[in-house]
Amino acid sequence: MERYALIGHPLGHSLSPQIHQRLFQLEGVKAEYLLDDFPPQALEAHLPILQSYAAFNITIPYKTALLDHLAGISENARLYGSVNAVQVREGRFYGDNTDCVGFLRTLEGHGLSLNTRVCVVGAGGVGRMFALEAARQGAQVTLAARASSLEKARQVAAEGLEKLGTQIRVQPLETLDGPFGLLINATPVGMYPKVDASPVPKALLEQVEAVFDCIYNPSQTLLLQWAKELGKPAVGGMGMLVWQAAAAHELWLGTRFSHRAIQQLIGEMERLLAEREGRP
Ligand code: NAP
Repeated sequence: MERYALIGHPLGHSLSPQIHQRLFQLEGVKAEYLLDDFPPQALEAHLPILQSYAAFNITIPYKTALLDHLAGISENARLYGSVNAVQVREGRFYGDNTDCVGFLRTLEGHGLSLNTRVCVVGAGGVGRMFALEAARQGAQVTLAARASSLEKARQVAAEGLEKLGTQIRVQPLETLDGPFGLLINATPVGMYPKVDASPVPKALLEQVEAVFDCIYNPSQTLLLQWAKELGKPAVGGMGMLVWQAAAAHELWLGTRFSHRAIQQLIGEMERLLAEREGRP
């Protein structure tokens, strides 16, 4: 039986095995999906194990660390400097970025457009991808970051200019001001167990038309609750998580999943997570 895995450190209670096993079921494929948690100093020694997988997904801290070990990289992954899906062919690694596909299909599934003023809050790995992709799609992008990551945000803006010829406006989080067509949370603020926090004040949401929060645990963050109270479309991160996994299967096995099948799986995973955390 072919073996697949998620590599990262620490992995905690990842939902990836459940998502990928359900995708294999939908495909009628018998395969194993493992959690492979090892510390960064063990990466070199671990390469033969990675070569034994048919393919694997990557999370922190290997999304950038594995770049040096790739025999090939997709245009997307090169643009974001981040790989989250790797196919192994004859012991060589070929990297792709399906987080971006997950992001775009989630927005598309909810009728949200990037053809607007987009504010990305957070300039880490995923914030960088959101900002560059939104800029690539023609959005007017503001990248908001707290003081400690303003320099990172400026680097993303410089990359946007160099690689895409597009201006990305950098704004300190404390002075953030709308209006925005879409506000995206790319920070861990509001994530379980610290669920009573939001990356921006509620008042800012009055100047925002729609919200996407990439956090998926809980499925309803405080930010999303506030947006809904104000009658704005509000979308959580589980769709992105499931769609990035489905997009990896499309690359690895050539499968095309229907929106309906993936929508069902998203609901299933939200219920599974709520049960696991003992929430109603
Ligand atoms: P990361 O590289 O660590 O970046 C996190 C960013 O958030 C950094 O810019 C950090 O600033 C900022 N931040 C942290 N705490 C903050 C606070 N209290 N106020 C303001 N900014 C704060 O992490 P990442 O990989 O980009 O992931 C970010 C979030 O996205 C995580 O919650 C992750 O679970 C989620 N995610 C979801 C999906 C999905 O499929 N739904 C995929 C990827 C990631 P500093 O640099 O100053 O620390």
